[in-house]
Amino acid sequence: MATLPMVASPFDTAAHSRSLVQISSPLAKRWRPSQFNARAIASDSNMLLWNTRSGAFSVIPAVRRLQTEQMLKKNGFAGELDTLGQYLLKRGYLVPAEESELDSVLLQMYQQHFREDGLELILLSSEDCNFRCRYCYEDFPRGTMLKSVRDNLKTYVERAAPRLRHLAISWFGGEPLYGWEAVEDLAPFMNDLAEKHGLSYGSSMTTNGYLLTPEKARALFSWNMRKFQLTVDGLADQHNKSRPGRDGSATWDTIMHNLLSLHEMPDPFFINLRLNVDLENAPHLREYIDFLAATFEGDERFVLAIKNVGNWGGSNDSNLTIQSSKQASATQEQVEAYSEQCGISHSTILDSNSFGAGACYAARPRSFIVGANGNIMKCTIVLDKDKYNVVGTLEDGGIMKIDETLHKKWIEPSFALDPDCQTCHLLPSCQGISCPLIRHNTGKRPCAATVKSRIQAEMLGAYRQKKRVASKTASRIDTHASS
Ligand code: SF4
Ligand code: SF4
Repeated sequence: MATLPMVASPFDTAAHSRSLVQISSPLAKRWRPSQFNARAIASDSNMLLWNTRSGAFSVIPAVRRLQTEQMLKKNGFAGELDTLGQYLLKRGYLVPAEESELDSVLLQMYQQHFREDGLELILLSSEDCNFRCRYCYEDFPRGTMLKSVRDNLKTYVERAAPRLRHLAISWFGGEPLYGWEAVEDLAPFMNDLAEKHGLSYGSSMTTNGYLLTPEKARALFSWNMRKFQLTVDGLADQHNKSRPGRDGSATWDTIMHNLLSLHEMPDPFFINLRLNVDLENAPHLREYIDFLAATFEGDERFVLAIKNVGNWGGSNDSNLTIQSSKQASATQEQVEAYSEQCGISHSTILDSNSFGAGACYAARPRSFIVGANGNIMKCTIVLDKDKYNVVGTLEDGGIMKIDETLHKKWIEPSFALDPDCQTCHLLPSCQGISCPLIRHNTGKRPCAATVKSRIQAEMLGAYRQKKRVASKTASRIDTHASS
């Protein structure tokens, strides 16, 4: 076989060969910081890094801070990576300069958004509620989910199951446990179906906790329903004012009795203990935290989640005493810091740190709310108060009829359509669809539904929490060693 003759270059002298070796240095690999990095400096001078694409959250010791900042300079650098560089590369803080990071993320988002092997159903087992919370936006139009709707739903999911890999069932209302007849009909059915088809299965419930007796909790656990969001607005005085029963009665004692029973049970479960804060209960929250610390004795199955009361669309909106956004951030920081001091876990950005975790279910094409009468909806705030949220109906024979024109408004892939989102470091999490309702109603991007404006404070809170839990359980924080 003929070989090509060597072509001699006029520069191929001994002297030039040396210079050829030298000019290879511009060809050394170039690196640049990921566009999805966020950073903060902790009070102990350590540097915190978070990458919203990889989900990495790292602590860089203060002695390595300068070197890390050099490596993560906007313009990047060329050369071999030392151990720190390798560490940053492995976790996605540093990327090869030639990599089109945005294109990869866009592709991943398209794949996630339009995947067809998952189904998420939010079931309104009861649209009525045994409470009348002062900030509630619902108007309780009907009661327990009809038997005919449950039967149609079973047929629909049974037919879909062979094409699925993931099934997620969330119970919502009204108060879901007020519609127990529907829960005890559907929850074991969904669990068995997922088992039969080998699906990954997740189930959760948003409940006021009043009907969450030990018997009901045991039944729910047996159907793989172990994740709850449950709201208590402080000690009895504050809570009973903001979350009374439908007849105005006090509800705190019963909820606490149920929570104490759960605390005494050995079973694995998770309770996101939501605390809705307004100007009335804000001054009394330290006593509530003291009570939680004394009562639940550091039980990590209970995690405090602070939410600021807003005008959520209820008939009582004009009478609410809402904190300004500045007050709300300050209260949140104080309550979280105090709960850390008392050994109570609170929710942090790291609880939902997976790709797309910040996107709202309403924006996902395979997520549907099923109403008690078979209405198919998208947003749990609007429900059927506005016709555009009722995108279909569940009909006899398990047929889900969807109005694609209405549905399209909710599921638009804003990550592909909004150039500002494409330059945002939260894009892999929020995807521009953290609240399609905000986009729909205001035409603005829904940054307000994300942690964007308080990202540093959130990272610092997550760090303090991680340190506290690590010191208690001897677990490790992802730290780049200083030597
Ligand atoms: S995040 Fe927005 S779209 Fe999603 S349920 Fe809440 S209000 Fe509705
Ligand atoms: S909506 Fe806001 S926070 Fe979300 S990706 Fe777009 S710019 Fe970022």
